[in-house]
Amino acid sequence: MRSIGHFIGGKEVKGTSGRTADVYEPMTGEIQAKVALASKAEVRAAVENAKAAQVEWGATNPQRRVRVLMKFLELVARDNEALAELLAREHGKTIPDARGDILRGVEVVEFALGIPQLMKGEYTEGAGPGIDLYSMRQPLGVVAGITPFNFPAMIPMWKFAPAIACGNAFILKPSERDPGVPMKLCELMLEAGLPPGVLNCVNGDKEAVDAILDDPDIRAVGFVGSSSIAQYIYQRAAATNKRAQCFGGAKNHAIIMPDADMDQTVDALIGAGFGAAGERCMAISVAVPVGKTTADRLMEKMIPRVESLKIGPSTDPNADFGPLVTKAALDRVKDYVEVGIKEGAKLAVDGRGFKMQGYEKGFYMGGCLFDNVTKDMRIYKEEIFGPVLSVVRAKDYDEALALPSDHDYGNGVAIFTRDGDAARDFTARVNVGMVGINVPIPVPVAYYTFGGWKKSGFGDLNQYGPDSVRFYTKTKTVTSRWPSGVKEGADFSIPTS
Ligand code: NAD
Repeated sequence: MRSIGHFIGGKEVKGTSGRTADVYEPMTGEIQAKVALASKAEVRAAVENAKAAQVEWGATNPQRRVRVLMKFLELVARDNEALAELLAREHGKTIPDARGDILRGVEVVEFALGIPQLMKGEYTEGAGPGIDLYSMRQPLGVVAGITPFNFPAMIPMWKFAPAIACGNAFILKPSERDPGVPMKLCELMLEAGLPPGVLNCVNGDKEAVDAILDDPDIRAVGFVGSSSIAQYIYQRAAATNKRAQCFGGAKNHAIIMPDADMDQTVDALIGAGFGAAGERCMAISVAVPVGKTTADRLMEKMIPRVESLKIGPSTDPNADFGPLVTKAALDRVKDYVEVGIKEGAKLAVDGRGFKMQGYEKGFYMGGCLFDNVTKDMRIYKEEIFGPVLSVVRAKDYDEALALPSDHDYGNGVAIFTRDGDAARDFTARVNVGMVGINVPIPVPVAYYTFGGWKKSGFGDLNQYGPDSVRFYTKTKTVTSRWPSGVKEGADFSIPTS
């Protein structure tokens, strides 16, 4: 059986804590690897390596730094298929979807190639008599990223590529459920020419996370995962004066206006609601048809589509989606379906009984579709993170607009309509961070920025795009005066311009 250690100082090292976790292959339900769980001492070793390596890396000119990322892109392209297969086998998503996971990460690496331009400071000549001012952006030093299981390629790249391009050294703590791909990405960065110690990966659970949060040498932490942990990390990181950006869970609504193209809308809802078995923070989990006629038309078309979803092992190129990540995740989602029934929602399609022939121990379930869900129900308020779509019927546009706006989560939202006025009003007023107009998964491209509101994001800067440069650098401002501009004598009042 494979055993996965940590990547510290440019090489894989065995764990010394004596603790490990099982890594499953969700499509078969078998344990395929054991991953080491780091102790405080192992995190400390990674920090020491990172601290030593960062001095020279931070002083390396920005263009040379991004040249390493350019080479890394070539290596990811070379190994793309092997990475996608490993990702699918550890996560459970299909191989085409795993390729997308890698590509959305690669796009942020491509963005990071332009970071030398974004790191440029400002300059003002003659801000006062003989006085010139300039600002510069400097790396923070050692920074860390703690990432979730559901995008094991994309989110690590979102974190480490901008941080490293800005001159920081990085400690990655990926999910212990699918650590194989993050470890490979670290190896590829080394092969691309990154000096040992600039990128380290410590595998682990809460113990490793707490060690990162409490370490005084780590200057910033970026987190992606569930909201309760995001909030915990945001608060604990502040106790050691770290900069923190923590992205949490989601409950993404799709509003369907009476004039929407119903066939296109149903296609969008099927892909965005059930792709990756609903294990995406931008998955649509609530559909809100406006008016009874719209709702009835939607249900009429959705029911046969959900019933005919094709579930398969991750290696089946024709599967719509694969298994869930673990048995615990599968049980949790099925429990939520039971909760929904007890709360009085109408289960129009029940996928709980699905069994995958030949893969009986895998973590599979079919798609579930609830109708008549109301906003007081737990299945509406809480994140289910599985192939379950809830339909909440709204009597009019105002009621539909209020649902995502008043919800605790505020990651993504979409409106389906042909009416430009309605779409414009919706985008202006909805209290959610990322909005799609006839686009079900509005993950912004790499040169914009990604971040949800309310319980979906703690901290005031988003991830990737120009915000990532702001997050991973600090600004130093220099006021200079040369002797020719100096008046004689001491001045006791505050300098003004
Ligand atoms: P999770 O919160 O269980 O784990 C995320 C990370 O936190 C992992 O590295 C894990 O090891 C660590 N962790 C887990 N429990 C911890 C604890 N008690 N103390 C300290 N650290 C702990 O999340 P997950 O199940 O891996 O991922 C799914 C969640 O991530 C969903 O809620 C999803 O919506 C969210 N997500 C959000 C975004 C976003 O950008 N907003 C993107 C992807 C996923």
